[in-house]
Amino acid sequence: MRAAEVFLERFGSSPTVRSFAPGRIEFIGNHVDYNGGPVLGAAIDRGVEAAASIGTNGRVRLYSAHFGDVVEADLDRLAPLKGSAAWANYPLGVAWALAKHGCSVANGFNMVFDSDLPAGAGLSSSAAIELATATALNGLFDLKIERQDMARWCREAENEFAGMPCGILDQGTSAFGQAGRLVLIDCRNETFGTVPLPEALRFWIFNTGKKHALLDSLYATRRRECEEAFAVLRTFRPDAECLVDIQPEEVVLRRDELRPELYRRAMHIVNETQRVRSVSRALEKDDINAVGRLLVESHASSRDLFENSCAELDFLVERLVNLPEVYGARLTGGGFGGAVMAMTTARFSVESASPVMASYAKRFGIEPAVFSARTGDGSHVLAR
Ligand code: ADP
Ligand code: MG
Repeated sequence: MRAAEVFLERFGSSPTVRSFAPGRIEFIGNHVDYNGGPVLGAAIDRGVEAAASIGTNGRVRLYSAHFGDVVEADLDRLAPLKGSAAWANYPLGVAWALAKHGCSVANGFNMVFDSDLPAGAGLSSSAAIELATATALNGLFDLKIERQDMARWCREAENEFAGMPCGILDQGTSAFGQAGRLVLIDCRNETFGTVPLPEALRFWIFNTGKKHALLDSLYATRRRECEEAFAVLRTFRPDAECLVDIQPEEVVLRRDELRPELYRRAMHIVNETQRVRSVSRALEKDDINAVGRLLVESHASSRDLFENSCAELDFLVERLVNLPEVYGARLTGGGFGGAVMAMTTARFSVESASPVMASYAKRFGIEPAVFSARTGDGSHVLAR
């Protein structure tokens, strides 16, 4: 990536700090994070690079190699932007969240972003740009922010400044990723760990390039439905702190108390929570076939119960899982478009996928973008 070069071109001087933050695969735990359950994600070897220098007079100047003009803002008057400058709400939100937590970037800063991660594909380019910003500012102003706070504050930036009510999966995985490992997040306590992955596995991403026009509001609707379902169910289980504390049998027992769609949402969340735990156990036993089956079950549950899939994603998953090199496949991320991830043997190649691509093109008139993704490390400062 060329963040430093672009920085020099735009701002006429060299950056003092460069940082990188990865995108992520949601491995399993679809919409479980904001319901307080465990989730598994993997940082990938693609992401956002930031190059930065300290500014003057509290002025922030931001430029992205992919998103148009320089955006300028004053630190003492930070407010979300609309229109073509709205991409800057992610880095501005990080500056806002840092200030809220007493971390001063008072001089302002200049920052340039470059990325090799498709935006809006469900691979969390938004968290990558946030973590790249926070990591660069941490280095630039020697803020000594703990990794855990970095993830939390970046999530606050996205929730409260950019206005997207996402859970902690995206920022937690981008912050805590490690090559060769999955990030396991306990979203209730916001604690982060990792678990090893067998070396022979590979990940492939199939980006449909489709994004539902109402993506953000659909996400918020699902979130609200989960809250509504929990409000009903907790009247029978007053000790429950969040939806994932309810057992699947209990949801079944209370089916008549819930509107049909709320029943489906709740069933998805409580079953998906169990699947995350089952995947962790299967990984401990190196039972990759079981992991693959759970990934496919997860997709079916997102499709039928949570109803956040779409024809393109379903088509890809259905065809991919019939290939001998594929252990499992599922939609990855918030859904309503975006990408499918497939967990495969090392033998899988673009050629392996070509019959699927051809039939997809026949059905939908365009081929999805496909690339392999290795697991990678979480956000870090790059050599200066
Ligand atoms: P996802 O996180 O799945 O990629 P989001 O809709 O949450 O999808 O985030 C995508 C948004 O993040 C883009 O619309 C843009 O505002 C911002 N973004 C992503 N990558 C970049 C980039 N390289 N430069 C500037 N903004 C970016
Ligand atoms: Mg995002």
